[in-house]
Amino acid sequence: MPVVYIGLGSNLDNPQQQLRSALKILVETPQLRILADSGLYQSRAMTLPGDETLQPDYINAVVQLETDLLPAQLLDTLQMIEDRQGRVRAERWGARTLDLDILLYDDLQMNSERLTIPHAGIAERDFVLYPLQKIDNTLNIPGRGPLSELVASVSDKNLQYLGEFNE
Ligand code: AMP
Repeated sequence: MPVVYIGLGSNLDNPQQQLRSALKILVETPQLRILADSGLYQSRAMTLPGDETLQPDYINAVVQLETDLLPAQLLDTLQMIEDRQGRVRAERWGARTLDLDILLYDDLQMNSERLTIPHAGIAERDFVLYPLQKIDNTLNIPGRGPLSELVASVSDKNLQYLGEFNE
């Protein structure tokens, strides 16, 4: 069965709680089997160049799971969870209650109108790379190379590990 990595992020309405309840929904979704999670990380919000507006810090995590769902079906499922949790569909880079991204889908590489896999920002984002490494340091990112090399090229100075999901 395909092994998939999902990125979770939130910076609104009690973000830690948003991620805990998102994980609970993922666990309860019949087509998904959760294998591991990274625990919770806190990161500084990314902003557009020139935009000095301060956004609340993000809470991020990565979840590893198995699923029979095809990528587009998985995206449908994740978007249903985002909507169910009252996501505010603000502008790109804007504050949001819950963001769920498909980071990796086995060793698949695809680029369609709806989906880029591996996720487009994967190689530059400390809040994705470090949680991925926590789950599996031996991962290879299709088209980008060994995860350990990507981690070494990215600073984690904006990133703080907060602990397990249920602490
Ligand atoms: P955003 O809310 O900024 O994360 O963007 C959401 C949009 O990104 C969705 O409408 C998806 O169609 C698109 N997208 C492209 N690649 C991915 C991916 N790997 N995971 C989740 N969404 C993706």
